[in-house]
Amino acid sequence: MLLYRIAPEGSWAVAESASDPRLRILKSDPFATSPGDWDYGGEVSRENASLLAPVRPTKIVCVGRNYREHAKELNNPLPAEPLLFLKAPSSLNGPEGMIVLPPESQRVEHEGEIAVVLRRRLSRGATPEEARAAVLGVVCANDVTARDLQKKDPVFARAKSFDTFCPVGPAVWVGADLEDLAVVTRVNGAERQRGHVREMAFPLLDLLLYSSRMMTLEPGDLLLTGTPAGVGPLLDGDRVEVEIPGLGVLANPVMAWRSS
Ligand code: ZN
Repeated sequence: MLLYRIAPEGSWAVAESASDPRLRILKSDPFATSPGDWDYGGEVSRENASLLAPVRPTKIVCVGRNYREHAKELNNPLPAEPLLFLKAPSSLNGPEGMIVLPPESQRVEHEGEIAVVLRRRLSRGATPEEARAAVLGVVCANDVTARDLQKKDPVFARAKSFDTFCPVGPAVWVGADLEDLAVVTRVNGAERQRGHVREMAFPLLDLLLYSSRMMTLEPGDLLLTGTPAGVGPLLDGDRVEVEIPGLGVLANPVMAWRSS
């Protein structure tokens, strides 16, 4: 089941699958009720729906170097425990939202990722079962990164948090199998990255438990689970896509920042 948010009011809308042409308007709160209890009212065709970022997180928690081959391509060792950092919630971007290349960076790169969306609060002391039950679903994410600034700065805050640097969408895949997910990134139609959860150094639920020990995760919060090998530059005029097969494609145009 795919959970969208649509303009103009940010209503929730649901499709049965990625090929379903109709979206049913959801009247229930998906954070307070289970899919089996959801109430619907009306429908719209997906073609006419304008999609918004499907979540509004209070924080965006990210994991670095969680795929062996990606750690290798940046000449980094695999960490002994998950390497956490944050993206500013103001970097959130939605389907078809423009990724703006800032003038401070000469090298902005894509990082296609699987992101976990929290349905319930999760904090220190949670069990693996509670972590699983706290997951609403997964969403495609692009952890856009100013790579030159990431190498220059001792912390990642600037490199990761420019406005528009966190596209997510197109929907939350509710009921996804967390042990069998792939992610593919394309730039201008050419495949650049491909990964699967089984190639991760730390599995999704371990990452949730680990990060929830430091900071309470709230409903709607996002955990970006790291990017596979193949990161590369984004240039003015590019179009970047992140796909989780079974969920759909998150597509975003790229443009250089202009003062006017
Ligand atoms: Zn990343």
